[in-house]
Parts: sequence; structure tokens; C-alpha cells
Amino acid sequence: MSNELGPVAVITGAASGIGRGLAQHAAGLGMRLVLADRDASGVQALCEQLNAAGGRAIACVTDVGDVRQVERLRDRAVEQFGGVDLLFNNAGVMQTGFSWEITEAQWQRMLDVNLGGVINGIRTFMPLLLSQGRAAHVVNTASLAGIVSSPLMAPYNVTKQAVVALSETLHYELAMLGSPVTVSVLCPGPVASEIMASNQVADTAGASFNQLLDSTIRQGMTPAELAAQVFAAIEEKRFWILPHKGFKPALERRVHSILQETNPQFQMTDVEDDAHAAG
Ligand code: NAD
Repeated sequence: MSNELGPVAVITGAASGIGRGLAQHAAGLGMRLVLADRDASGVQALCEQLNAAGGRAIACVTDVGDVRQVERLRDRAVEQFGGVDLLFNNAGVMQTGFSWEITEAQWQRMLDVNLGGVINGIRTFMPLLLSQGRAAHVVNTASLAGIVSSPLMAPYNVTKQAVVALSETLHYELAMLGSPVTVSVLCPGPVASEIMASNQVADTAGASFNQLLDSTIRQGMTPAELAAQVFAAIEEKRFWILPHKGFKPALERRVHSILQETNPQFQMTDVEDDAHAAG
């Protein structure tokens, strides 16, 4: 992408899980990294680890839900490395529970981080990427929940489907402009990470669902495997990044249900199928 110094990648939610895997893969490719997370010690420790192995990474403590902090992140990237070639809007959190029992604060947190974080990333970084007048690429992390809904995950489904819609819109807009900037939406199934630690569980309702989700995620694809697939898709400038194939029957049922105007039917095995497809 940019120059012989190596492309510059900004990654949010870099301290753990998928973001950490992306950072490690990008460092292996010789990229210069701006690693953002609200977990200050986690992101600093990752930077030190990468730099000790010859990497060129800086940490920027950022809450993606706060647009001023995302602006500061962009400014840090420009000050340090002169521009940005790759932006990963990846930070996200989990919330399970019955739609009507999730509190206002819990809904707001999901909207602020999972959707607001991506909106803040797009609004803050797109003018910079467009002004550079060269190829750049944005990867927004949604989820399979961005394509098919499951029960007990309303704020997650809602925010991830919004991220898919935002990404498709952005893709159309960049094509309208004939811009060299391109976008992908990453929709993984289960990936082994710490995301369930961010789930604010108020009581035991839905405990068995949470246990199933937790064990499915723990047995999921490794962040390293996922990162390899993501970077291969970026090379191809591929919009859809769907590393797990087990979702296809559920998507086909959904499309059929919409086209035939029949009522949607959820099958719990869809969640497990994705885990097996990852393995
Ligand atoms: P994770 O919890 O391991 O990592 C998420 C990171 O984001 C953490 O380091 C956390 O501190 C950070 N973070 C959370 N809120 C933040 C905020 N407001 N500002 C900045 N950083 C913040 O989880 P993960 O699974 O690696 O999640 C990464 C992304 O992948 C999320 O968007 C998640 O929804 C998505 N995803 C995960 C899976 C999965 O199975 N793990 C599947 C599909 C999509």
C-alpha cells in the first residue's frame, strides 16, 4: 500500500482476541501499528511484546465510544507515522438477555461501543483516508449476528446488523466516488477470545444459553487463523469476509422466510454448526 516503510494499520480493540490476532499478523508483515484499546495495560503490554520482536507499534488508550478519543487516535497515527493505510474498527462487547430485560444503560453501552465505535471510526478516519489520494482499506468487525439473528442477543444482533448496513453503504459510496479506498465487513462465527467477560449478566435467566455461547466461543477458530483469512481478503479487496461457513443453512432459511413471507425459525444447532465449521 503506502511506501517502503511499511503500511500503517490502526486497530481498535487490539489488546485481546481478534484485535490482538490482527495486530500480531500485521506486525509479522512488517506493518507499522497504532494499537487502540480502552485496556491501557493490555494494549501497552502487547506493544512492548511486538516491539521487542522488532515491531514498530505504538499504543493509544482509546474508548471508541467517545469521538474525541477516536479523533486523538487518528491524530496520534498521523503524528507518528504520517498517515493510515488500514483501519480496523474492531472493538466490541457482548450483552445477552431477554430484549425487554436488558437495561437502558446496557442497551446504551452496546450502541455506543459496537455501533458508535464504528461510526466514530468512519466519520473520523474517512476524510483522512480520502485526502491521502491513495489506496487504503477499512475493515469493520461485525459478526454472523450481523447476518442472522438469534434469541437472547438483541443488542448484539442490532448493532452488528447496523455495522453490516453501514459497511455496505460505505462500499457503495466509495464506488460512486471511484475512490481507491475500499472496505470489508468481517462477519466471523465463534473465535476464541475474552468477549464473554464483557457480558453483563444480571441474573441466572438464560444461564444455559450463556454457557453454550461461552463454550462455543472458547472452542472457536483461533485469532491467528482468523487474521490470516482477513489479510488474504484485504489483498483481494473482498467486501465480505465470512470465515465460518456453517451459517449458510441459517442464512438460506432466513432469505427463504423473507421471500416467502413465512415466519422466521431459529435453530440452536446453527450456533454449534458454526463452531464445528471453524474447527
Ligand atoms: P475480546 O473481548 O477478546 O476483545 C475485545 C477488545 O476490545 C478488548 O481488548 C476490549 O478491552 C476492547 N474494547 C471493548 N470496548 C472498548 C471500547 N469502548 N473502546 C476500545 N476498546 C474496547 O473480544 P473479541 O471477540 O476479540 O471481539 C472483537 C470483535 O469481534 C468485537 O467487535 C466482537 O463483537 C467481534 N466478534 C467476535 C466473535 C467471537 O466469537 N469472539 C465473533 C464475531 C464477532
